[in-house]
Amino acid sequence: MKPSIHNTLSRRKEELAPSGEFFGMYCCGPTVYGPAHIGNFRTFLAQDVLRRVLECSGIKVKHVRNITDVDDKTIRESRKLGVSLSEFTKKWTEKFHADCEKLNMLPPSVEPRATEHIAEQLEMVSKLVENGHAYAAGDGSVYFKISSDPDYGKLSGLDRRSLATQSVNSAGEANLADEYERESVSDFALWKGRKSEDGDNFWKSPWGEGRPGWHIECSAMSTKYLGPTFDLHGGGVDLCFPHHENEIAQSECSTGLKPYVKYWFHSAHLMVEGAKMSKSLGNLYTLDDLISKGYSAQQIRYALIAGHYRQQLNFTFKGLDDAKSALSKLSKALASALEKAGMTEVGFKKLIMPGAKLEGTIFEGAWGALCDDVNVPKALGEIFAALPKLGDSGENLAAFGAILYALGLDPLACGAAEAEEAPEEIAELARQRWEAKKAKNFALADELRGKISALGWTVLDAKDGFSLKKA
Ligand code: AMP
Ligand code: ZN
Repeated sequence: MKPSIHNTLSRRKEELAPSGEFFGMYCCGPTVYGPAHIGNFRTFLAQDVLRRVLECSGIKVKHVRNITDVDDKTIRESRKLGVSLSEFTKKWTEKFHADCEKLNMLPPSVEPRATEHIAEQLEMVSKLVENGHAYAAGDGSVYFKISSDPDYGKLSGLDRRSLATQSVNSAGEANLADEYERESVSDFALWKGRKSEDGDNFWKSPWGEGRPGWHIECSAMSTKYLGPTFDLHGGGVDLCFPHHENEIAQSECSTGLKPYVKYWFHSAHLMVEGAKMSKSLGNLYTLDDLISKGYSAQQIRYALIAGHYRQQLNFTFKGLDDAKSALSKLSKALASALEKAGMTEVGFKKLIMPGAKLEGTIFEGAWGALCDDVNVPKALGEIFAALPKLGDSGENLAAFGAILYALGLDPLACGAAEAEEAPEEIAELARQRWEAKKAKNFALADELRGKISALGWTVLDAKDGFSLKKA
């Protein structure tokens, strides 16, 4: 079975195959001006599952995901705080990495930052100016000329003939915003002339001091790491227009090569309790918000991948509770299979990886669902239907490990995740107890264990450490 996805560009379901020695996959990464929210993670997790499915099918993936560390928002927020852009974005990049790790997301093969690729962006802008697809305006900015690209609009289905495209010259006003609606389609900024609100955030260019527009970074960095035409590009559905449309225009017009990207992978948005997520409605959640409510990162991952990626996901606390019980069912089934097979948890962990055969096993149905446009809800249903047949055979356990890898789920990590997320006060008591035990002060160790359990937690000892579990 070969993985397939719905390609936004062709509007059809297509089988995925690498065009070269690896499958090149570029995903628009976070804009690092604050913690990512669970909507962002819904999209990043859909991409993570797709990558895992490709790997399980034997395809070698090169996964590039950028960090947008210069744009209108990062500049505005860093200046508000009076810190340098690089210091500000470093902090939020590190937070993003920590969250990704908790959610068991595979790190990308390359994670380029926009500010470290200014030369590549300028080179692409220069090419576009040279070949007549872009022009410099008087203010030191450079714009892409939409009317020079007969294909403009092909991804998002804009009807070019009805586009009242504006150029800087005729409208007298340029489109300098990074994000805008379809109605305001117009020539867009590739390079933005320096403005007072940019502070010290500017670079030299042939057109004067300024900074890159948002769209150009993804064209320049994807080309650098994956070549001028590559396999797959992903992002949330909001990026389809204008961001991805503009990326196609910039890339194809600068190289003359088509297509820039073969498959476009867009995930639908996440809603919270039926409403659009927004700060003003008080329903915008970060990973920390949910962890502090007592949910583990594995449960959050499960809840965020459980809906089909092309359907809006309605995130609810009931959904999180369901994820918790589903994971506990998986853990129990696994524990009993391991006991029957005489396999340790450590032994099974080594099986959570791609490689095992899934076709012809009890997880064939689940695998088929994942290959069919990454149908995670169907795959989960198939997994639960297969659990009673798990038994103790090595083949079934290996296949179970592979299907868990594809979803990035680790039922054995649930306890560990809880331990990581134990409140600091409990963790401190547990550390003191461990020290007491090492010093053979068993009376103190027992007393501390008693305190910990009175607070609702159990310490589990291992050979070289301890873990904490909610009692
Ligand atoms: P940003 O950090 O805003 O550049 O967004 C990072 C990724 O999250 C992009 O692929 C967006 O399309 C995606 N995204 C933003 N909001 C949501 C949402 N509510 N649901 C799903 N994906 C989203
Ligand atoms: Zn992008």
